[in-house]
Amino acid sequence: MLILVLNAGSSSLKYQLINPKTAEVKASGLCERIGIDGVMKHEIAEHRKLEIEQPMPTHKEAIEFVLNILTHDDTKVIENINEISAIGHRVVHGGEYFKKSTLITKDVLQKIEELIPLAPLHNPAHILGIKICQELMADKPNVAVFDTAFHQTMPEENYLYAVPHEDYIEHHLRKYGFHGTSHHYVSNEAINMLNKKESKVIVCHLGNGSSICAVKNGKSIDTTMGLTPLEGLVMGTRSGDIDAGVIPYLMDRKGMNSHEIVDYLNKKSGILGVSGISSDLREVLKEAEDGDHRAKICIEMMCNRIKKYICSYMGQLGGADAICFTAGIGENADVIREKVCTGLEFLGLEIDKKENKKRKSGNREIQKDSSKIKIFVIPTNEEYVIAKDTYNLVKKA
Ligand code: ADP
Repeated sequence: MLILVLNAGSSSLKYQLINPKTAEVKASGLCERIGIDGVMKHEIAEHRKLEIEQPMPTHKEAIEFVLNILTHDDTKVIENINEISAIGHRVVHGGEYFKKSTLITKDVLQKIEELIPLAPLHNPAHILGIKICQELMADKPNVAVFDTAFHQTMPEENYLYAVPHEDYIEHHLRKYGFHGTSHHYVSNEAINMLNKKESKVIVCHLGNGSSICAVKNGKSIDTTMGLTPLEGLVMGTRSGDIDAGVIPYLMDRKGMNSHEIVDYLNKKSGILGVSGISSDLREVLKEAEDGDHRAKICIEMMCNRIKKYICSYMGQLGGADAICFTAGIGENADVIREKVCTGLEFLGLEIDKKENKKRKSGNREIQKDSSKIKIFVIPTNEEYVIAKDTYNLVKKA
């Protein structure tokens, strides 16, 4: 049994063909510049990499091309599309409707459509991807796996904003949180590593987009992203937490409208805006090493914000059994892990600097023997979770 995992963006399409039982990835790739010209970066079982220019006027041609490359000529990894049992779709926003992954029915699709005002850039692209799969592979079930679902266990006092309550009732204004698939997977791995019945885990998903989640006994109780992914940590191009008063101030001073401000805070801020170098942390780390002041400040800001939330979540959880690092930065940037943990010894968190620097694959522990709190590095695998959820739901159905 194979699952095709799709993540449709506004002009892109990420895909993986996965065996949900063994986690084997048969092929993966990314179609970019859909609607402009079209480029596919395709990888066959981590060995063979291809880059193909192919006109993709819409997502339909992109998905057709993916199915074609999986089944034809010397790139084929399956004989025909009948070997694909189902399609798992990453869907950013499930609002309050979806507390877990679900088989896609007419009603589910309609609800994802209703949620467009909450995710205007993402949900329309996901809907398009789902509809095209239903058209091209009419006999195959489709499953939606939501970024927001894992956080639906947050208590009211954590998901409400301190604004007039009518706006929650009428306009669904609240914290939803994102990266739920990753937080769910990583916290689950951590709980298995802890081998404890009751657990308090903090997951730091640090990538281009970053968020932290407090997980009590396997359930999300708070997270740093909010109504949108803009809240919380300092990210690649997002500011994270900011005084709401900044918005009218910028409107007055720079004559910006709301769209321009959203663009400014989402795409021009964060690591890119502060450093003036790049949104890619590797480049900023290199410049900081060479003495660049803004690069250094940017790294300190990023780490202080992470520390602030770790302490806050330890307060809410009443301590922690483990702090987990995951995603591009969390898994690879030992400098960031060391900076975040240093100074938190008073909480019982002691990083083993030598162990932290070692490059290893798989789940690992990087705390000192004397540390009261475990520090885990756990590679995230969102596509595998989507494939597994899809397989389990289809099997049940
Ligand atoms: P996305 O949110 O797009 O999935 P990733 O999880 O791939 O992002 O993370 C991308 C970030 O990880 C980038 O800022 C990149 O610089 C950083 N990163 C990747 N590898 C390293 C590394 N070896 N050292 C420092 N940062 C790294």
